[in-house]
Amino acid sequence: MSAPTPLSGDSAAPVQSLYEARKNIHVRSVSGRFSTWRWALVWITQAVFYGLCWLPWNGRQAVLFELAERKFYIFGLIFWPQDVFYLAVLLIIAAYSLFLFTAIGGRLFCGYACPQTVYTEIFMWIEEKIEGGRNSRMKLDAEPMSARKFGLKAAKHGIWIALGLWTGFTFVGYFTPIRTLANEVLSFNFGLGPWETFWILFYGFTTYGNAGWMREQVCKYMCPYARFQSAMFDHDTLIVTYDAERGEPRGARSKKQDYQAAGKGSCVDCGICVQVCPTGIDIRDGLQYECIGCSACIDGCDQVMDKMSYPRGLIRYSTEHAMQAKWGNKEVFAHVLRPRTLIYGVILALIIIAAGAALALRMPLKVDVIRDRVEQAREDENLMIENHYRLQIMNVSEVPQHYLIDVSGMAGIFIESERSVVIPPLTTQSVSVEVHVPPASGKKGYNRIYFAVKSLNDERIAVREKSNFLIP
Ligand code: SF4
Ligand code: SF4
Repeated sequence: MSAPTPLSGDSAAPVQSLYEARKNIHVRSVSGRFSTWRWALVWITQAVFYGLCWLPWNGRQAVLFELAERKFYIFGLIFWPQDVFYLAVLLIIAAYSLFLFTAIGGRLFCGYACPQTVYTEIFMWIEEKIEGGRNSRMKLDAEPMSARKFGLKAAKHGIWIALGLWTGFTFVGYFTPIRTLANEVLSFNFGLGPWETFWILFYGFTTYGNAGWMREQVCKYMCPYARFQSAMFDHDTLIVTYDAERGEPRGARSKKQDYQAAGKGSCVDCGICVQVCPTGIDIRDGLQYECIGCSACIDGCDQVMDKMSYPRGLIRYSTEHAMQAKWGNKEVFAHVLRPRTLIYGVILALIIIAAGAALALRMPLKVDVIRDRVEQAREDENLMIENHYRLQIMNVSEVPQHYLIDVSGMAGIFIESERSVVIPPLTTQSVSVEVHVPPASGKKGYNRIYFAVKSLNDERIAVREKSNFLIP
């Protein structure tokens, strides 16, 4: 029989709190090969995010998701609610890309392109410019409040909040035309709608809170990707690793000392790899779920190795197999192509090719045929059978289109009503169509017929839709 669980009031029993207060991590800045890559990704992703919404295209915003009008503009492409198929394909492509790149490169996305990483990097840069390097910040945080400390903290938070709000404004600018939004904000006449105000503030303060305050907590406790990515890893996935065989036994030494003769490994136990780590872990303890794969510790350790005139790569990108079998880069890269990555890669390539072809062949015209339910069929004055239809014609191009409507499928079938219609750009119009058939040209009941809608502006734009003609 198991012992009863001690209550927290039992003074003899140790009480384990489920809450651990956050310890402030004073990250040391680092430069090097991977830091350059990280900053390149910061510049690229932010230039795209902050810049794309200002780009004009055909007299409108190049990328705009107009939820109210239910139209998504992406350069020359316009997506309507009927195009939800492409959204599904986009999600499938995103999922397979994630599977493929995680299987090959581990947490490359987390370390280099995730918005949390990118904004934390920017916010830490601002912090360092205002409060100084790691030691200055630690000293400042330990000091009692003073006018200087208050000024530095106020400046830092002021810039963080301004950047957060600019980010929120940009985010909303993808859903409301950004020039209109800018005028509304700058006019100071409360022109902003309640939803726009809410989302600018919400997104702005989420950015400020996540990148300024919560930082690694988001990766450790909030991000679901960190939890399920292990299912996508295998023994040939690239991970940031410490070469314990080469590094241990660790210990301080002088540069001139023959450390191998002294029985020491390459690790000088300087702690730089821990100080530069944004999640505050020690990679020498082995692979940990907190590691976001940012490789700051690789740059930090490489600098130490250079100073000591030891070969670089005590901490490096490697794989579990490579560490066990002591493979070099050549063998590691040779294992990039393996059944799992080949399957993901082939599926991804096929989906991208199919989606690309579907987009290229996409018709800028959609037609829905609806039979008149009130008066199904009647005989006209010439003893012909008459059926009524409504054609919902959707011009999804950005120019007006002149369409001609035709019908076929039964002998002697013709349209009595107006066959020609001009529809403005990005507009749906409902057109009444009256179809006549000689009574002997079909069987009693429903007969298959076809409507053809063709553009007179561009002969490649044509749609054929089937329907039924009722002979009573
Ligand atoms: S930076 Fe390199 S040498 Fe310094 S403690 Fe880390 S692993 Fe050891
Ligand atoms: S252990 Fe290295 S790669 Fe992992 S999060 Fe820390 S610094 Fe980045």
